[in-house]
Amino acid sequence: MSGPRPVRAARGTELSAQGWQQEAALRMLQNNLDPEVAEHPDKLVVYGGTGKAARDWRSFDAMARTLRGLKQDETMLVQSGRPVGVMQTHEWAPRVLIANSNLVGDWANWEEFRRLEAMGLTMYGQMTAGSWIYIGTQGILQGTYETFAAVAAKKFGGTLAGTITLTAGLGGMGGAQPLAVTMNDGVAICVDVDPRAIERRIEHRYLDVRADSPAHALALAVEARDARRPLSIGLLGNAAELLPQLLAEGAPIDIVTDQTSAHDPLAYLPVGVAFEDMADAAAKDPAGFTVRARESMARHVEAMVGFMDAGAEVFDYGNSIRGEAQLAGYDRAFAFPGFVPAYIRPLFCEGKGPFRWAALSGEASDIHKTDRAILDLFPENESLHRWITMAGERVHFQGLPARICWLGYGERDRAGERFNEMVADGTLQAPLVIGRDHLDCGSVASPYRETEAMLDGSDAIADWPLLNAMVNVASGASWVSLHHGGGVGMGRSIHAGQVTVADGTALAGEKIRRVLTNDPGMGVIRHVDAGYDIAETVADERGVRVPMRED
Ligand code: NAD
Repeated sequence: MSGPRPVRAARGTELSAQGWQQEAALRMLQNNLDPEVAEHPDKLVVYGGTGKAARDWRSFDAMARTLRGLKQDETMLVQSGRPVGVMQTHEWAPRVLIANSNLVGDWANWEEFRRLEAMGLTMYGQMTAGSWIYIGTQGILQGTYETFAAVAAKKFGGTLAGTITLTAGLGGMGGAQPLAVTMNDGVAICVDVDPRAIERRIEHRYLDVRADSPAHALALAVEARDARRPLSIGLLGNAAELLPQLLAEGAPIDIVTDQTSAHDPLAYLPVGVAFEDMADAAAKDPAGFTVRARESMARHVEAMVGFMDAGAEVFDYGNSIRGEAQLAGYDRAFAFPGFVPAYIRPLFCEGKGPFRWAALSGEASDIHKTDRAILDLFPENESLHRWITMAGERVHFQGLPARICWLGYGERDRAGERFNEMVADGTLQAPLVIGRDHLDCGSVASPYRETEAMLDGSDAIADWPLLNAMVNVASGASWVSLHHGGGVGMGRSIHAGQVTVADGTALAGEKIRRVLTNDPGMGVIRHVDAGYDIAETVADERGVRVPMRED
C-alpha cells in the first residue's frame, strides 16, 4: 500500500537487491527518509524547505521495487523523484540516473514550478535530498565548521573565543551553526520560529541551551563571551523582528549570518503570521504570502546590513536572502558578500569539497575505522585531524553512520581506494557509499552562491555541472544526478551529484579511482578556466591536463 509510513534502511550484509550497487542506492533512498535523518519524512521531505527524496509514495515504492530487481547491466532512470524507465546499459554504467526539478530557462521560476508540481509532474530535489546522499546535519556541519574557522582566521586571530555570532534558522542545514561556532570556541545566538527545531538541536547536542527572551539570550551570551567559554543559545522568534530589535538595542554582535529557508519564500515566516498558521496561510494565498515573506526578508537583511555598518563581519550563507530582499525593493541587499567568494573559493581551486561516506553495515565501528584511516593517510593536515577527532567525539549519527571531511584533488581517490581495500580485506563489516554534496568545487553553477563573483565573470555559465555529471557517468559512478534550483531556489542554480559504491571488488576500485580523480578535477579545471592562480598551480603540480595551457 502506498502511503506515509516509517522508512529505515536495512543494515548488515544480507542483500535484498541483485548486487551491492543497487542495494546501496536502495538503502540510501530509504536512509534519506529515516525519521532520524529527514525533516518531514511523512511528506517525503528530507531537508531544505521542501527538498524531497521521491515524488510521492507510489513512486517511492516503485523505485524500491525496481532497485531490488535491477540487474548489473541495467540502469533505472528517475525523473523528478519518479522512476520512468529501465534501460539495458553495461556494468561500468551507473545503476541509477537522476534528473530533478529541471525547467527550461524562461519557465524556471517558483510559480511555474509549483504549478507543475501541483499537477504531479515534478518535485523539488534540493541537492542531496533527491539524489539520496543526505547524511543529516553532520553533512553541513563540516562545511559550516570550515566557514566559521575561515571567519576566525580572517578577522579574529584564528579563534572565535570572545565573540558572539547571531544567526537564524535551526533546520536541517542551519541546525549545524551552533555546534560549528562552539567547535571554534565562540558563542552563538540562534533564532528560529519553530520550537521543535530548537528542541531537536538540543536533543542532538548541536545546541546547548534555550533562552526565554532576547534579554536572557544576550545576558547568557555576554557572560560566556567574557569568560571566553563556548556556548550556543536557542531563541524562539521571528528573525525579521528580533534582528532589528537587537540592532536597535545595540547588542554587541561580532558576526551575523542566516540560514532560514529564504530561498523559498513559502518556507520563510513573514512577520504578522503565527508559526502555527504558516502552512495554511502559504497554501491559501501563495502569491500574497510570497510578497509578505519578501517584505520581512527585506527588514531582516536591512538589520544585517545595520550590524555590518556597526562593524560586524556579515555574510550570506547561501540561502538567497539578499536576492529575495532585493526583490522586495531593499537596495542595499548585496552590501555584504556571500560566503563562497569570502571564504571558500580558495579551497575550490584545489578541488577541495565535501567528501562524505556512509557505512551500509549500520555499524558505528566501521566509521571509526575509516576515521583512523583518514588520519593515517593525511598525517600533515592539522585542521582535518582537528575535525575528525572532534567529529568522532561530538557528532551524533543520524540514520546510517556516516562521516564527512573536505578533501581535494589527489586526496579523494586515495581515501576511496583505501576504503575499498578495507571492505575487501574484511576490516569493514560491509561496503561503503562514497559521495558528496552538490555544493562542490566543479559541480555547480549558482551565481548567488558557489559561483558568485567569479574572476572572469562566468558566474551564470552552467556548462560545468553538465560536464561534471557526464564525466561521472563516463567514469563509473554508481548513481549520478543533475538538478536545478537547489540551495538558492528556482532559476538560480544548476548542479550535479555522484555516489560511488566501495564494495571491495577490483572493478569498484577501478571506478573509484577514476570518479574520485575526475570529479574534483572538474573543480580544478573550472577555476583554471576562470583564471585563478591557485588552481593553475594545483593543475601544474598535480598533473591536471588543461588543453588551453598546453600550446
Ligand atoms: P529548513 O527548511 O530545514 O529550516 C529552515 C528553518 O528556518 C526552519 O527551522 C524554520 O522554522 C526557520 N524559519 C523560517 N522562517 C523564519 C523566520 N522568519 N525567522 C526565524 N526562523 C525562520 O532548511 P535548511 O535545510 O536548514 O536550509 C536553510 C537554508 O540554507 C536554505 O535556504 C538552504 O538552501 C540554505 N543552504 C545553505 C547551504 C550552505 O552551504 N550555506 C547549504 C545548504 C542549504
